[in-house]
Amino acid sequence: MVVVMAPGATKAQIEEVVAVVEGAGLKAHLSFGDQRTVIGIIGDKTVMMDLPLAGMSGVEKLLKVTASYKLISREFAARDHVVWVDGVPVGGGSMAVMAGPCAVESREQLLEAAAIVKAQGAQFLRGGAFKPRTSPYSFQGLEQKGLEFLAEAGEKYGLKIVTEVMDEGNVSRIAETSHVLQIGARNMQNFALLRAVGRAGKPVLLKRGMCGTIDEWLNAAEYIAKEGNMDIIMCERGIRTFETYTRNTLDLSAVVAVKELSCLPVIVDPSHGTGLRKMVRPMSLAAVGAGADGLMIEVHPEPAKALSDGPQSLDEQGFASLMKEVNGLTTLLRGENRLQ
Ligand code: PEP
Ligand code: MN
Repeated sequence: MVVVMAPGATKAQIEEVVAVVEGAGLKAHLSFGDQRTVIGIIGDKTVMMDLPLAGMSGVEKLLKVTASYKLISREFAARDHVVWVDGVPVGGGSMAVMAGPCAVESREQLLEAAAIVKAQGAQFLRGGAFKPRTSPYSFQGLEQKGLEFLAEAGEKYGLKIVTEVMDEGNVSRIAETSHVLQIGARNMQNFALLRAVGRAGKPVLLKRGMCGTIDEWLNAAEYIAKEGNMDIIMCERGIRTFETYTRNTLDLSAVVAVKELSCLPVIVDPSHGTGLRKMVRPMSLAAVGAGADGLMIEVHPEPAKALSDGPQSLDEQGFASLMKEVNGLTTLLRGENRLQ
């Protein structure tokens, strides 16, 4: 249930509502908007229904929350949640660009990729050190060495690091290096991992599972939020359909749906979403048009030599022209508030 306080409700009135909620053994989640404060209540529904909240002073109305996710829901939040990553905003009108190779392959490769990414104005460097590969015989990532190269490149170019965490045991060591913990599509419903990143004290990038419905994806985010971490960036990366021309079917309508249903920022990964280099630019622009808060783009200094996902990776020139157009469209649609 959500208690919507009247515009101008006083601090004392808000505190009184919270006291009644907590006094009944329930949890109160406060969200402050420009006009109103919203108090989300979590706990036993029957206890909730019996509380004398409707008649309390300062209370405008009570709303029932029907979705199974609460903390991240639009009803619980008085405004969009902007995820601040070490001073860089994701959401709130900015355009966050996370770019870099699929996998960290060597120190030289990563430094070169970071230079390209930085030169074009992206704020984040992506790159997998632990890779989820379909075949156990494919390159699995440089692991610890990869984390060290990411840390060095991030430091050198002033880029925030995004890298994937695949198991609970590695959460704390990856959190030492990475500004954002990426949960890959294959782990969207790895609930133990979701709980672990929820407790890690770092923003989380939650990719949509390849067979995940929007509702399942939002519930996955709720697992993270329930641990006390609201800094969740949702990432649409395509879903599996009957279509085989593209690697996945990029569901841009999910951007609109998730932004309507939740307060979280949503970014789009057209690289994994299509698997085809030629589609990365048009789908990036479509994502900006759909209202995405950012993009995740695979960039490799020499895509033909990439150890993974070369066919969907952009080279320096491809990324430069993409960024020019993304900037132009963002400025056109959203005014001056473009990259950052
Ligand atoms: C990735 O971004 O490196 C990745 C493996 O993507 P996904 O989890 O979307 O397949
Ligand atoms: Mn990849």
